[in-house]
Amino acid sequence: MGRITLDKVTKSFGEAEVIPPLDLTIEDGEFAVFVGPSGCGKSTLLRLIAGLEDVSSGQIRIDGQDATETPPAKRGLAMVFQSYALYPHMSVRKNIAFPLRMAKLDQAEIDRRVTGAADVLNLTDYLDRRPGQLSGGQRQRVAIGRAIVREPAAFLFDEPLSNLDAALRVGMRLEISELHKRLQTTMIYVTHDQVEAMTMADKIVVLRAGHIEQVGSPLELYRTPRNLFVAGFIGSPR
Ligand code: ADP
Ligand code: MG
Repeated sequence: MGRITLDKVTKSFGEAEVIPPLDLTIEDGEFAVFVGPSGCGKSTLLRLIAGLEDVSSGQIRIDGQDATETPPAKRGLAMVFQSYALYPHMSVRKNIAFPLRMAKLDQAEIDRRVTGAADVLNLTDYLDRRPGQLSGGQRQRVAIGRAIVREPAAFLFDEPLSNLDAALRVGMRLEISELHKRLQTTMIYVTHDQVEAMTMADKIVVLRAGHIEQVGSPLELYRTPRNLFVAGFIGSPR
């Protein structure tokens, strides 16, 4: 399960209203991409969903339950951070197991989940290495592994590939899409890269100055952009 609904959600920092009232539903199992220029509120929106920021008003529901006041650890969502968030002194195995040890799962269950995640991510041969002994792409996979083992209702990615070089980015993009196909879990993916949006998304949410300019499938946005801003982002002038 992993249906996420925002109902008239707003966010202000002091006087500045960064997110005016916003309604949005991400369906269970959907791959949603938030796209838009730098500063348009993509990260803020993701952090509101994750619970890392409190909404100023409005409601967030996860699978129909009001989660607006629920602390991040209890929302059942996994935020995937960039690879630099790994613990350099711990093995890959311990990095992936870390959230489960914090949650005090028993060792057999931890081993089962770490083995499963390593298998899905092709990291089985690297479990005893340290992050410093891995490539950028492998480190990124470890960060994803740490999210997978929590068996979240949804994965939240904030520009996870922006630290990687162009060639690696293409490979990781395919890997994340493949992972979504295998897990069938809701994913929300933030990027300012329209190619990532077009190739990965079931649903693209085009943001501009904190509001939704248009929501639709890549094909819908490509064929019928609502305005020049959307057309410019999707690369298809009307
Ligand atoms: P994006 O991820 O699309 O680049 P952000 O969500 O990071 O955009 O930021 C949206 C707007 O909110 C920007 O104008 C940014 O300066 C502002 N903002 C984000 N976080 C804070 C904060 N903690 N305090 C004040 N302003 C913030
Ligand atoms: Mg951002």
